[in-house]
Amino acid sequence: NSRKSLDINTNGSAVQATEPTPKRYVYLLGASEVGRSTLVRQFATSRSVCLDSPTTPAPDKILSSPFVMGDDHGASVVVGLDNEETEICFLQPQSNLTTVGAEECINAYIVVYSVTNRSTFRYAKDILHKLRQLYKDSVALILVGNKTDLQRQRTVSTEVGKELAITEHAKFVETSALLKYNVDELLVGTLRQIKLKQAEAEA
Ligand code: GDP
Repeated sequence: NSRKSLDINTNGSAVQATEPTPKRYVYLLGASEVGRSTLVRQFATSRSVCLDSPTTPAPDKILSSPFVMGDDHGASVVVGLDNEETEICFLQPQSNLTTVGAEECINAYIVVYSVTNRSTFRYAKDILHKLRQLYKDSVALILVGNKTDLQRQRTVSTEVGKELAITEHAKFVETSALLKYNVDELLVGTLRQIKLKQAEAEA
């Protein structure tokens, strides 16, 4: 994954140089069986279109790379947003963080619970609170209520999820990883949050 940029060499003529696609690291947390692995698998197959861009009327394309299993058992996907490509690398608790440096390089945390299981929501609440205390507002936090296709088994309402996200300054999305509902929105929303945090840090 590389993108081209113009470079000027010493005799003044323009030459094509390749710049590596910037990488951003996203850590997925949550109780087991909430659907983290399924979400990552779905991210890696994203080839859909983002329609909610306020700056570009034409839909931004999400460009997907093949599902890449790295040495750290992570996966990555290249996302094109606002005419810029970013490689998003997904890490999970079993990923070996030493292969990507240290925890400081994490740009966003996605905390997942299942809308059918209240104890996974309490677990997510706990993690989110700890992350907020640890990072203040310096990293992007995204709270995800997954398994919305199981409507009849739902025990965690959308409102309760939203409230928690507001309290902890996180973005909130409900998904069905199984049906790929809102999965692309989650991917694009995560990248937007990362860019927002980056812009805040540079301001
Ligand atoms: P992880 O332990 O958080 O990585 O969870 P997995 O991704 O392995 O998913 C656990 C189980 O939940 C698997 O049987 C998945 O097929 C199922 N699952 C994951 N996401 C969904 C979803 O959105 N809806 C439904 N109905 N099942 C899901």
